[in-house]
Amino acid sequence: MSENWAELESRYFFPVGKRLPVTLIRGEGSRVWDENGREYLDCLAGIGAVSLGHCHPAVVKAVQEQAASLMQVSNYYYTPPQIRLARLLCEHTCLDKVFFCNSGAEAVEGCIKLARKWGKEKRDGAHEIIVAENAFHGRTMAALTATATEKYRAPFTPLVEGFVRVPFNDVDAIKRATTAQTAAVLLEPIQGEGGVIVPDDDYLPGVRAWCDEAGILLMVDEVQTGVGRTGALFAHQLYGIDVDVMAVAKGLGSGFPIGAFLAKDHCAVLGLGEHGTTFGGNPLATHVGYTVLRHIIENDVPGQVAKKGEYLERRLQSLADRHPMIKELRGKGLLWAIELDRDAAEEAVRLCLEEGLLANNVKPTALRLMPPLTITEEELDRAVEIIDRVLGWIEAGGPK
Ligand SMILES: *Cc1c(COP(=O)(O)O)cnc(C)c1O
Repeated sequence: MSENWAELESRYFFPVGKRLPVTLIRGEGSRVWDENGREYLDCLAGIGAVSLGHCHPAVVKAVQEQAASLMQVSNYYYTPPQIRLARLLCEHTCLDKVFFCNSGAEAVEGCIKLARKWGKEKRDGAHEIIVAENAFHGRTMAALTATATEKYRAPFTPLVEGFVRVPFNDVDAIKRATTAQTAAVLLEPIQGEGGVIVPDDDYLPGVRAWCDEAGILLMVDEVQTGVGRTGALFAHQLYGIDVDVMAVAKGLGSGFPIGAFLAKDHCAVLGLGEHGTTFGGNPLATHVGYTVLRHIIENDVPGQVAKKGEYLERRLQSLADRHPMIKELRGKGLLWAIELDRDAAEEAVRLCLEEGLLANNVKPTALRLMPPLTITEEELDRAVEIIDRVLGWIEAGGPK
């Protein structure tokens, strides 16, 4: 067991990911343990994926039972878990039809293909999709094109045609960018990887009204904001609007890989043979997804997240009162960014790790917290105490 994992990793992996110097072995609830048995409080939660906490008993049981029963047969056959999960998703959203896949990027790709087909069929061949500055939608080619980050895009040009980028939180910019070629607008309700950017309350309702007026689709990427993360089951519901298309992934499997895209009947245009997947919607992933989503709905996890979010906001506010280097707090529910007045977020992440807290930085200046939705107020207190200590060191001109 005393392998040098860092050395082996550098030998066998593409060096695309910057890893923190810790090797994790085990998790339970909001805590994980490294190979030396040291405990960490997890406020990253596998990038917001581990919605019910590590190794939640209901999720473990769902994996074990379904793994022992049936894992994969393809979509040539009916399988009850995927149909149950599709029904549950539709019953709790404004959407009518579901396609299951394995990741967020794949879910976004599906939305883009749907918009293309819809434009071809219902809007005279319109194919353009309006996307936002600072957006993140994943790493596959079309999702990457929808993503704004230049360093993710530049090595892979030429990208996919037909994307128009406008500033986020600006309805008029969308209006000006809309032409006869526009098929859809694709937005994160709250931009996650871009730094947890929460738009004005009237932004999404304004975009909805414009999409209705212009006769184009409103597609939301809820890969990060969905499944209870922001204090509603899906973040667009916080703004009282319906959407036409939605991408989901991350929290849906509480750590098990699963994605989905959904559409309203009026734009559910994908027909026989027009999209497909080998693993998407397999009985194992969808039984786990069904178990997670049912648990979240039956226990009103979104309601609890809203309350915990208010609690965390108060704690972060008092942290900001003590630390002048905190410039701004942004977030909703259990998705928060602490914006600093300098490029110290990476150092803060490293010091937090040393103090037993997992978090990450979404920008050089912003620390992000997205713990399991099941985290307790005591654990949130502990996270804030560690950040308090770490920011104190940084302000004092360096660590311990
Ligand atoms: C993480 C994320 C994705 C990509 O999901 P993957 O599972 O990594 O492909 C897409 N959109 C948003 C908003 C995300 O946060």
